Amino acid sequence: MMVTTQSDRAIPFFPYPKLFTTEEDDLTAIFREVGQRGAFVLQEDVRKFEDNLARFLGVRHTIGVANATDGLSIALRAAGVQAGDEIIFSSHTMVATAAAIHFAGAIPVPVECGPDHLMDPASAERAITPRTAGLMPTQLNGRTANMDALGRMARRHNLTIVEDAAQALGSRFRGQCAGTFGEASAFSFFPAKVLGCLGDGGAVVTNNAGIAARAAALHDHGRDGRGEVAGWGFNSRLDNLQAAILDYRLKKYNAVIEQRRTLAALYRNGLEDIGEIVLPPGPHGDPDHFDVYQNYEIECERREGLREFLRARGIGTLIPWGGRAVHQWPALGFTCRLPATERLFERVLLLPMHPWLTAGEATTVCDAIRRFYCGGL
Ligand SMILES: *Cc1c(COP(=O)(O)O)cnc(C)c1O
Repeated sequence: MMVTTQSDRAIPFFPYPKLFTTEEDDLTAIFREVGQRGAFVLQEDVRKFEDNLARFLGVRHTIGVANATDGLSIALRAAGVQAGDEIIFSSHTMVATAAAIHFAGAIPVPVECGPDHLMDPASAERAITPRTAGLMPTQLNGRTANMDALGRMARRHNLTIVEDAAQALGSRFRGQCAGTFGEASAFSFFPAKVLGCLGDGGAVVTNNAGIAARAAALHDHGRDGRGEVAGWGFNSRLDNLQAAILDYRLKKYNAVIEQRRTLAALYRNGLEDIGEIVLPPGPHGDPDHFDVYQNYEIECERREGLREFLRARGIGTLIPWGGRAVHQWPALGFTCRLPATERLFERVLLLPMHPWLTAGEATTVCDAIRRFYCGGL
């Protein structure tokens, strides 16, 4: 009899080595070619990737940066956010969202998320004060918020929108890409993101030429296109080698999105009748939304028990953000309570969701969850 060990069948939450091993020959060739050209910083591969990313998103300007956290901070500054301005964000996000606001000199104001796990417009509106300068909605889990509602609110109160689109490349609301609704936005190319490189990377995106010029200067020591120092700046450039890898991956990115959407449909079919869990919207559930499923975030009863049950069967899961919404980290000094978000954080769990997950593995995950809640087998 063939003995299958558990590790043969293990389903990790995210198989990092596959980011390299599944494309090893092509990636090695890119490394060799870029290396032999000596093209390491701000070279043609960055320019090419920026152009192709702009075309993919349908946006005028893209600036490769070192990571999305820097990108968000740079976008806020370039959009004119001033010291002491309040910027509203949904507390169900990575701490990076709030850190970007903090390091732009502004004050991060956390609000609730709604049933879709994205910024709750009513909670955001209640948080507006005379010092509120902007909204930073996180397009979480690869879904774009209802930007009509947020856009109307922003216009009513004269607020700037800078989207945290770190998780949402290719996600659309009413046909328009995440990251193109507000004054500016930032994307992340961290390895585990929908479009990942082999390290850190990000991009700032805008349709506004003035914001683009200021962001471009800010990311390269304050230097303008002619090399003149136009003001204080950072060093936050996208490595040319990472840009070459990203440009190669962008060409195949639509297939990655399709694979994630197929897996989301499988999870939905396999789990939707279980009363103890709440699933994200299905890929064809609402014609206004095109989701790219950066994560598959469920709400579930008896979360710790389920996690342990799955772990014992070699299935990796993740509790988002280390188990707390941003405002729940005492070291950051927030004093507000956000009851809906805090309740949600006792229930949320991320299932494996990545382009190398097979249909068979997704079915195995569903079967294990069914066994946990429904017994049998
Ligand atoms: C990953 C992520 C970031 C930070 O991106 P980096 O490129 O790692 O700086 C910010 N916000 C959200 C929602 C993220 O998921």
